[in-house]
Amino acid sequence: MTDNPRSALATIVGQVRAHLEAQRLLGVERLDVSVPPATIQKAQAAAPTLDGVRQELGECTRCKLHAGRKQIVFGVGNPNASLVFVGEAPGADEDAQGEPFVGRAGQLLTKIIEAMGLKRDDVYICNIIKCRPPNNRTPEADEILACQPFLLKQLEAIRPKFICALGAPAAQTLLQTKESISRLRGKFFDFHGIRLLPTFHPAFLLRNPSEKKTVWEDMKLLLRHMQDG
Ligand code: URA
Repeated sequence: MTDNPRSALATIVGQVRAHLEAQRLLGVERLDVSVPPATIQKAQAAAPTLDGVRQELGECTRCKLHAGRKQIVFGVGNPNASLVFVGEAPGADEDAQGEPFVGRAGQLLTKIIEAMGLKRDDVYICNIIKCRPPNNRTPEADEILACQPFLLKQLEAIRPKFICALGAPAAQTLLQTKESISRLRGKFFDFHGIRLLPTFHPAFLLRNPSEKKTVWEDMKLLLRHMQDG
């Protein structure tokens, strides 16, 4: 075999052609190249799609939050996004509209995304839990645990290069730590080969507008890393 990749390819093509010609002379008129269903299922299991994850979630009753929700808030945006924002949980507006981050905190997130030179449609936005907790309380451990496989499969389906974790519950859930968001924010962490940057939650910024500049510093850092690839 030659070291030259072009002539190696030409040799392979010639061999395949000769083999097919021999098959034809032997009376073979068509080749069965269908993939067995079991192989397709295996491939699908290995690489989930967002639609597949949504279907698997179904009309979920895996935790107590299903009883009080209007609808599941799965996630929105570009299924091939290189950046995913992960928040905490749907609030009243999100529960009503079925889309994450559409209320006041969501409008601030949209402004942040646009200030980064991006559009909401460029990124993917979701939460660690998909149903609204009563009175917007912090998600409880059993609720986070029940939803976690779906969040992980969403991230596996998208395979973004970057994740921005918004607020303590998102950062602590993804990084499996109890460290405070003040200590976690502004630093990159490895999340299964994806670069994860925690920052403050937009709802926190609504209560503490002086921290907006901190988040903007984090977003500038994120943009620099995104530009470097
Ligand atoms: N806060 C979140 O964490 N997620 C939303 O979708 C809305 C507000």
